[in-house]
Amino acid sequence: MSSPQRPKHVVLFGRPGSGKSSIAERLSQDHGFFLFRTGELLREAVRRGDPLGLQVEATLKSGRLVSDALIEKVLEQSLSTPGDRRLLFDGFPRTIGQVPMLAKFEKSLGFRVDCYLDIAVSHAAAVTRMTGRRVCPVCGATYHLVNHPPKVAETCDVDGAKLEQRRDDSPAVIEVRQRIYAETSSPILAYYRTHLPQLFRVVDGERGFDEVYAATCVALGLPEPS
Ligand SMILES: [Zn+2]
Repeated sequence: MSSPQRPKHVVLFGRPGSGKSSIAERLSQDHGFFLFRTGELLREAVRRGDPLGLQVEATLKSGRLVSDALIEKVLEQSLSTPGDRRLLFDGFPRTIGQVPMLAKFEKSLGFRVDCYLDIAVSHAAAVTRMTGRRVCPVCGATYHLVNHPPKVAETCDVDGAKLEQRRDDSPAVIEVRQRIYAETSSPILAYYRTHLPQLFRVVDGERGFDEVYAATCVALGLPEPS
């Protein structure tokens, strides 16, 4: 039995630009969470190239969203009884239709998610963060105009290459991603907040990464990073 103070299985939420994925990676490294990412599982399925993988590949190539039914099949293939492993879900459930799916897996595999944690960042703050991102096309180093600027404007510190904005970080694409997140995730957050308030936690994500990570650790009953 895990105590409610230190949850064993966690679902992490956060809009694009919240830093959720970096937080998830760090939690996995520092505290041994088994990271569960729907996007990675889909790519793995494609690599395997079995009938399910081919179906996923066709959907991704067509640019359509992968349906909940297909996600369920991929998860069924990959999820197993966690045993002593601590699970961290990053990007699942992503639609309200995936909420009962998670409940079903909990039942069939004998585990309970005991914390739903939202890294809360406002739309405006997320947009500012994302539009400020720059990446070096040569070495892949990442910068941020405000939080982590290069020594010389728009120039990589390592190799002097001119920094670029990822296509995903253009204002139009950012707005679309924010809108999709708001539309799909608001009902999910509302659901857990209403139905499982004792398991729902919020961390203020509008701070530097280290502070947000430390606050996340506290919220999960984990020792703060030294
Ligand atoms: Zn570089």
